[in-house]
Amino acid sequence: MNTVLAFGPIGSNSMLRINCPHCGERDYTEFRYAGDANKARPAHGTGDLKTWHDYVFIFDNPKGPHREYWQHVFGCRQWLILERNTATNITGASQLTDTSRAS
Ligand SMILES: [Zn+2]
Repeated sequence: MNTVLAFGPIGSNSMLRINCPHCGERDYTEFRYAGDANKARPAHGTGDLKTWHDYVFIFDNPKGPHREYWQHVFGCRQWLILERNTATNITGASQLTDTSRAS
């Protein structure tokens, strides 16, 4: 199995680092990417299949600043929202989400 490493800021030799508000800065390998934090999940009870299809399968591919869900799976297991520039891989602010997003 091949392992793909995510590098830190473009031009650096460092590994991508993520600042967990609870634990501090850690290697990205402790985290799991969990999707676009800008997308709104359809309300419970929504029966429209197109709405769910678009939520699950249709993604933007932004270049530049992006808000993403990450979970600190090998740490505190908290969910957070991270600002990451997809063009430079520079990470910005992070904040814990509410606890309603369970894994
Ligand atoms: Zn943590």
